[in-house]
Amino acid sequence: MRIALGGFLHESHSFAPLPAGWREFQKPGGFAPLQRPATLVETLRPTSVGTAGAIAVAEEELSADLAPLTWCFANPSGPVTAEAFERIAALLVAALSDALEAGPLDGVYLDLHGAMVAEGFPDAEGEVLRRVRAAVGPHVPIAASLDPHANLTARMVALADVLVPYRTYPHVDMRETGARAMRLLGARIRRGAPWARAFRQVDFLIPLGTQCTLVPPMAEVMAERARLAEAHGLAELAFCFGFPYADFPDCGAAIAAFGPDQAAADAAAEALAAHLYRREPDFAGAVADAAEGVAEAIRLAATAARPVVLADTQDNPGGGGHGDTTGLLAELIRQGAQGAVLGLINDAESAAACHAAGEGATLALRLGGRSDGAPLDVTATVERLTDGRFTCTGPMARGNSADLGPTALIRVAPGVRVILVSRKMQAYDQALFRHVGVEPAAQKILALKSSVHFRADFQPIAERVIVVAAPGPVVADPAVLPFRNLRPGLRLRPQAN
Ligand SMILES: [Zn+2]
Repeated sequence: MRIALGGFLHESHSFAPLPAGWREFQKPGGFAPLQRPATLVETLRPTSVGTAGAIAVAEEELSADLAPLTWCFANPSGPVTAEAFERIAALLVAALSDALEAGPLDGVYLDLHGAMVAEGFPDAEGEVLRRVRAAVGPHVPIAASLDPHANLTARMVALADVLVPYRTYPHVDMRETGARAMRLLGARIRRGAPWARAFRQVDFLIPLGTQCTLVPPMAEVMAERARLAEAHGLAELAFCFGFPYADFPDCGAAIAAFGPDQAAADAAAEALAAHLYRREPDFAGAVADAAEGVAEAIRLAATAARPVVLADTQDNPGGGGHGDTTGLLAELIRQGAQGAVLGLINDAESAAACHAAGEGATLALRLGGRSDGAPLDVTATVERLTDGRFTCTGPMARGNSADLGPTALIRVAPGVRVILVSRKMQAYDQALFRHVGVEPAAQKILALKSSVHFRADFQPIAERVIVVAAPGPVVADPAVLPFRNLRPGLRLRPQAN
């Protein structure tokens, strides 16, 4: 069995301040850089991504001969530039062409996100699948793992033989999902014929905050998903929560069912959609404003034995934020928070100034705010300088190497410190703190640029988690965004008109 394997991952926020260009895929913070065929397998094998699980199953269970293509990831941001999309898609298809030149392929595995919007191609994964399908022809099975933030489209479902999203948010099963997708690809190859498939879109946007699978309602929806998949004998019942910041008609949650029987696939997709509509009111979620959140954190931290975690959800670098807005930081300083550390502020210019000044120096910084024009003027003492390189240790990204560029731990008020970096990364791993000499569990308040992913590694050490709305594009309520291209009838928040 000979299987080609590649990936192209991006989550695009139509209204985020900065696009994803070629450079962002070359050196993303927190994930491996762009891989060519010669290095792909060895580089990704020890990581947490879907491809790593797919490689393991292909080698150990399928005894497959692997034909590596290209793989790349960029942190969520505005849409992918036309130039970057064309160059990367061309690399992927050229590698596939070389693989076909060397011999026939039995299948293709793709590691995709599912919520990529590129200039010119709002359904960017649909376009990637179209090009891959065009290169291999109509009969070679294609399996793709997806992020459940995928905005699934009918075109993606038609072009792939099976689509397999992660089941968890925080995404602690990326590797496991790649393994499952590769196992299903093997089953599809042995089967020799396509599965029946069904596709249903859900007509309300689910806010990021209530997509978390650790708690109801989503924990219960995922249990129902598993029950329906089993009861209807499906190969896969894919449920994608959607990424509610993409301004195109297929934005939002969707379901795709794959199995031997058309009636069963239709029935399972329909039943899961009906379940979601029954639970619709439970998906509305409230978020504190920064002033309330900080006041509550200070009150709790006064007597707590463990850190209070503030989640700066609207500037989440994993949702398209630049990781540099200063609203929450300003509030921590204004209210005189003690023992607080903010991870992180993404500001290469200020980080460079700290490195030039040296450890122990005090300097004036116009900190952050590059993305929204609202920097914060502070006097900073440089406590620690690093090269921003570390290996993640948490349940989501264990084994992934991060490279955030010149990094500094700075004190900006008697009780407030900031991890200042040169490349953005979502604050989902305690190693971000430890690599600058800060033990997260020993702090009073941890402020994190993250919406939900931080819960995998930080909830176990937290006294309490408070999600706050400070400035940033990853709005807790997508209904405030100036959408122009959504499909008619899509509700912008649960139970909206
Ligand atoms: Zn995701």
